[in-house]
Amino acid sequence: MKTKAAVESLSKLISVGKSYQQPNGQTITIMENINLELRTGEIVALLGPSGSGKSTLMRIIAGLIAPSNGEVLYRDRPMVGLNPGAAIVFQNSALYPWLTVFENVELGLKAIGEGPKSRRRKALRMIDIIGLDGFENAYPKELSGGMRQRVGFARALAVEPELLCMDEPFSALDVLTAENLRFELLDLWLEDKIPTQSILIVTHNIEEAVILADRIIVLGRNPGRIRADFPMTLPHYRDRKHPAFQAIVDRVYKILTNPDLDEAEPEPVAIGQSAPEPQTVKYQNLPHVRIGSVAGLLELIENRKEDLYRLGQELQLEIDDILPIVEAAKLMHLVALDEGDISLTPIGQAFLEGDIDERKNTIGEQLLKHIRLVKQIRALLTAKQNQRLAEALVLDILERHFTPQEANRQLNTAIDWGRYAELYSYDDPAGEIFLESHVPEEQDEEPVDAEPTAV
Ligand code: ADP
Ligand code: MG
Repeated sequence: MKTKAAVESLSKLISVGKSYQQPNGQTITIMENINLELRTGEIVALLGPSGSGKSTLMRIIAGLIAPSNGEVLYRDRPMVGLNPGAAIVFQNSALYPWLTVFENVELGLKAIGEGPKSRRRKALRMIDIIGLDGFENAYPKELSGGMRQRVGFARALAVEPELLCMDEPFSALDVLTAENLRFELLDLWLEDKIPTQSILIVTHNIEEAVILADRIIVLGRNPGRIRADFPMTLPHYRDRKHPAFQAIVDRVYKILTNPDLDEAEPEPVAIGQSAPEPQTVKYQNLPHVRIGSVAGLLELIENRKEDLYRLGQELQLEIDDILPIVEAAKLMHLVALDEGDISLTPIGQAFLEGDIDERKNTIGEQLLKHIRLVKQIRALLTAKQNQRLAEALVLDILERHFTPQEANRQLNTAIDWGRYAELYSYDDPAGEIFLESHVPEEQDEEPVDAEPTAV
């Protein structure tokens, strides 16, 4: 850890929450009760699955967006508008194509009202420090992705921010370029070549977090909240192969893969077209994966208890690729997770041993038992005389819990899953879900706990 004379508080979030008002008037809470302090002398990594609110949290800290509740302080004073101490590097550095490297870097200095002389001096200095020497007059399109990202860094660092915020700054780069830039940034930081007091890096890459951070914060989803916040005491520069490094990677992986959305089993609710859902009932957030991917995962872990992190490495999958599949399998109770190890449940085993019809049956039973949206669609369908259901109705219900875009994705996933299990079909041109006449007798299936009583 970089040693500073005294550790001071920079940014402080107290009970911060963020919600968005939907066009239909509903409010969606994307983050709740965030308490967080960023201090001088530390690199903090904000990790979490996509959609957990990492970018939102970073933007709140940078003052680009205001929280809906709670307080944001900077240097112990309430913050209004842009954070004067912060600068941001985005994933795609968002350079102005008609400006040269120098002019792009100078831009931030202009924005804070520096005069032409000091602008020139500071911009050239940072261009030099960041390894863009000789490219001052080049245009962004003449540069590689890595060089463009350097310009993004130089632009942010030229204003000498106290707090450097970075949102997945290396994720659009190839592996080698990303690794080079990471270590160059670390050099600048550790050798005090930049006056930056604190760095906040948003990432979904666990190893990147463990390489860079002095402290790791893990966010969870639905709504976004802090699930872990711990210091990293390994000295820089860290060796990825070192057992201690691997142990921390494992620890974070375990936190991330510890299911956080399957605890609350759906409450049975009376379903009726006119009866609104109580606002307190939470919908599961269905991961957008195909049943085929779930089947693939089950086949991979057949007969072995697998460490998810190793599995990800073996398959060259990023956590963001593998987690949704694991979540889907977990929601259907096909796998069990224990401290980062994944194994088949007896139901998952039965699925694997079944032929295609048996597999469909297994999935159908699990969906009706555990997936609220599928169960609800099914109940609405059986309640209707013509056994057809306009998807708009389901969307209206979902849009009280999700953004319109996400509501659409949730519905599509529920339709996909249900169709796989032949619980219902979908009439595309009409936008209707319907029951095929040959759908098996209701009595043979798992009891649906929301019987269509109130129609
Ligand atoms: P992450 O960076 O971790 O992927 P984000 O902070 O981008 O997550 O988003 C968190 C959640 O907030 C997502 O579900 C996203 O759809 C939602 N969200 C972000 N911005 C808006 C907005 N302007 N209106 C509505 N929902 C939003
Ligand atoms: Mg993001």
